This record gives sequence, structure tokens and C-alpha cells, in this order.
Amino acid sequence: MKKSFSKEQFNSILLELSKEYDIYAPVTLPFKGMFSDTDLIKYGKVNSLDEINFSKKSFYSAKETMIPMNQVLFHFNEKEFKEPALKEKKSLVFLRSCDLHSVKKLDNIYLNNKFADKYYSDAMKNIKYVVIGCKTGWDSCFCTSMGTNKTEEYNIGISFDEDNILVDIKDETFHENFSTGEICDFNMDFVETNKEILEIPENIKLTDVIDLPMWRDYDRCIACGRCNFVCPTCSCSTTQDVFYKDNENVGERRRVWASCHVDEFTSMAGGHEFRKKTGDRMRFKVMHKISDYKKRFGTHMCTGCGRCEDACPEYISYIECIKKLTVEVNKKKGDNNE
Ligand code: SF4
Ligand code: SF4
Repeated sequence: MKKSFSKEQFNSILLELSKEYDIYAPVTLPFKGMFSDTDLIKYGKVNSLDEINFSKKSFYSAKETMIPMNQVLFHFNEKEFKEPALKEKKSLVFLRSCDLHSVKKLDNIYLNNKFADKYYSDAMKNIKYVVIGCKTGWDSCFCTSMGTNKTEEYNIGISFDEDNILVDIKDETFHENFSTGEICDFNMDFVETNKEILEIPENIKLTDVIDLPMWRDYDRCIACGRCNFVCPTCSCSTTQDVFYKDNENVGERRRVWASCHVDEFTSMAGGHEFRKKTGDRMRFKVMHKISDYKKRFGTHMCTGCGRCEDACPEYISYIECIKKLTVEVNKKKGDNNE
């Protein structure tokens, strides 16, 4: 069902929905950005369109609404443990096509990877998605190269014309909420091309690329992990046991986001650590995003959102890294065919 709504009509629908759903969307946090006097765009709870930042890419993705950065798995004492109660309210998340694709990629890791992750599975049962039409993307986006620029798998889709909000309500459970408005016809806005068009090499052999000199360019990485934390498809975590001060036999086990760029990510008992050089960690991440994951799940892990490109304090360009790698892989293929 496609309908057109005035801003006032749409806002009163959001207000009504907020009784049943926590509504999450990109919001602006003034002066909390990466540089002085810059704003941070991240996910937050909203109740009206005016609170949503539609014009800028969110620094963090919608991932944190599904997998909290810091999540209590269970509380424990000497005798027993107890999982926290499930969140009662459902979630409605505004996101763009690339980020909805990232949910499918996380599903593969958390649900289709031998064992289903209970915490993720419980959270996902209660989430619905509003896809925000996206006409042009931003300079660092390469969603068209990764095939994530379009989607039909949303519950609700919204685009804008000059005065109205155009809404495609695919999920029938929302039909009653959107009973006002005028029936109309429109196509969702989806990016058709990006400034950055990347060729992603297929079937990269690790042995062909593991010792390439190009990885040494990335030893300038300071292992801050920021590129992982902003990535909508990074899913690694570590666990922490926190013992309460008033009774040290009581505490909680937490799952906390981890980063393959950060020191000690690969530390093992006995002290051995794989990938000590940060350039090698870059290789590991890039190969995971555009090669290894695809060999396992048949689709690239990277959605081309460009957030890692935007977030690196060392100005390490993931896009340029893929371009360099593609040249090297093609060179290798040419050498092998001679
Ligand atoms: S562009 Fe970077 S941040 Fe975005 S999905 Fe790919 S690796 Fe992750
Ligand atoms: S590549 Fe950049 S953002 Fe990522 S860990 Fe290294 S310095 Fe930090």
C-alpha cells in the first residue's frame, strides 16, 4: 500500500507508534563529533520527523540498536545465574538500503553459522525496519559496487516529494496505523551510481596476497578499532566478567564489541599473538570483508557504506586499499596465465 502523508500526519502516526515501539533513527549530537566543533550523527530514540537527521550519513550504523556495544548476558552469584528480562517494547528502526542489507549479513554470522545466537535471535524477533529512500548517497559510498543500493525487504519505505512523505507500507500489521493519507503511486528513491565505483576481485587466494608489500603501507594504523566499531557488519565481541564491589561473589557477564585491529585481539594462552603488525590486521579485515566471507556465505560482507573510510583518524582509505589489492590480484592472475 502506497500513500502520501503531510508532515503533521506522519508525526502523529509516529507518536502513536511510539507507544508500542522504541523508534530509532539517526540523530544529531551537537559538538560530539570526531573533530572540535563538529557534530556526531548516531542512532537515538525519536518520536518525530524533526528529530531525525535525514541529510547526513550516520557515523555509527543501526547495528547498535540490535547488538548493543555492551550487553549483559547474565547476572550470577555463587549458586546460580539469571538472564536479564527481554525488552518488552518492540523496535522500529529507520535505516538506508545498505544498512538493511547489513542485517542479512549479520544474520549469517549470528543465526546461520552452526549455532544460532540466542541474544541476537531474541532481539531480532522484535525489530521492524523503515527504509529511508536514498537519492545520491555520499562521497565515500560504494553501495552500487556491492549490490546493496536497493532493497524490497523493508516493512515500511519512505521517500519525500516537495511537501509530503511518500510511504510504502509493505507490512500489513502497519496498515491500520497508516489509515489516513492519500493513496498514491511512487518509486522508492535508490542510489543508481556512486562517485566511487569499485571492481571487487573474485576468488582471491590468500597465498597470492599475504606477503604483498602494499600491506606495509597500513602499518601506520594506530589500532584504535574505530573502523570496526562504525562498520555495520563487524560482529566480533569479547566477554567481560564484572564483579560487584559490595559482594564480590555477585556480578554480571557482559558481551562487548571487539576489534580485529586492536592489540591482543588474537592473543592466545601462552602469549602468542597473530598479526602483530597493524598492516597485517588491515589485510585480515579487508580479506574478510571482500573475499573470505563470500567464500562461506556467497555474498560479500562489506556493504559499501564507506563508514570505515570516514572514521579513520589516520586517513587510511579502505577504498584505495581495495583498488590497490585489485591491481595486485589482476597482476597475479595475468602472471599465472602467461
Ligand atoms: S565500507 Fe567499511 S564500514 Fe562499510 S560495510 Fe564495508 S568494511 Fe564495513
Ligand atoms: S585502520 Fe584507522 S580506524 Fe581502523 S584501527 Fe587503524 S587507525 Fe583505527
